[in-house]
Amino acid sequence: MKKYNFNPGPSVLPEITLKKTAEAILDLNGSGLSILEISHRSKDFEAILKESKDLLRELLDIPSGYSILFLQGGASLQFAMIPYCFLNKKAAYLDSGSWASKAIKEAKMVGDVQVVGSSKEQNYTFIPKNYTIPADADYFHITTNNTIYGTELKTDLSSPVPLLADASSDILSRPMDVSKYALIYGGAQKNLGPAGVAFAIVKDSMLEKIVKPVPTMLNYKIHVENDSLYNTPPCVAIYSCLQTLKWLKDLGGLKAIHKINLEKAGLLYSEIERNKLFMSPITVAEDRSIMNVVFVFKPEYKELEEKFLEVAKAKGLVGIKGHRSVGGFRASIYNAMPLDGVKALVQAMKEFESQV
Ligand SMILES: *Cc1c(COP(=O)(O)O)cnc(C)c1O
Repeated sequence: MKKYNFNPGPSVLPEITLKKTAEAILDLNGSGLSILEISHRSKDFEAILKESKDLLRELLDIPSGYSILFLQGGASLQFAMIPYCFLNKKAAYLDSGSWASKAIKEAKMVGDVQVVGSSKEQNYTFIPKNYTIPADADYFHITTNNTIYGTELKTDLSSPVPLLADASSDILSRPMDVSKYALIYGGAQKNLGPAGVAFAIVKDSMLEKIVKPVPTMLNYKIHVENDSLYNTPPCVAIYSCLQTLKWLKDLGGLKAIHKINLEKAGLLYSEIERNKLFMSPITVAEDRSIMNVVFVFKPEYKELEEKFLEVAKAKGLVGIKGHRSVGGFRASIYNAMPLDGVKALVQAMKEFESQV
């Protein structure tokens, strides 16, 4: 049976990414060696790293004056790297979800943190707005897509201080104005590649703000100076990212994928609105994520939750159980989720409704 993988991360990847990675694990480009075995300082890997960076730069239209890094430690390690490197006086954070609050927790260990807005009291059902970014902050940190709660900041904010964004779960889902950010970072395992590699797009002028002693591996400047090769990078994971980037380019780039993403999300949200059983917990419609679509049963149908999960599973719809802090369901419909997968889910929702 065809399975559709709605898992939040690690998550669905393009089939070509899986196929090319499998091939390279056995034999990289006819070299007789596996991508698992080659030196990260070999010509072959240098070419893979360079092509990955070039393609990411092309797809996101990253201006000059920015460096691209592939790192380990996930987005979570960068929660700590950011304040170690850039928090000198005070940092501003927007608390829009669990990942944002984890980033805040790390920053508080390093220095003074001002949370400028939070939707925590309302269980993160919207993105906080109408806040003031303090002009004397070293930086302002946001999460562009709140993977667990299903809210997304879909525009590129203007900030009077350097804007830093955790874009783990919506990177490459839409065109972005990179020039508005001083750092865009995240784990690759939502929308780019497998677990084990994280990305960072850092404005070079930010590196001058690193004035405190910082442990070597936490220092963005060291990684930039060494072109992501200070120590052994996750070669296979980077290779897989490259295959996804090629797939995205062949598909027509970010404008093309954004259009498809809007269509997929539109289809699913329309069904949630139409179907008498379901509702969206996100109170502000414009904040609804196009990557992680969270929905719940209306209170009167709540007891059907397990049943719907069983029905979905039987139809090959995998990974739609909601996060424990929200309940209900979450369909992660990242770039690599085909439109047919969303149609299959919508069909299952319709059928389920007709049987209640
Ligand atoms: C998954 C996720 C993280 C954590 O990523 P790791 O790579 O596991 O550290 C952080 N932020 C967001 C928005 C995420 O979706």
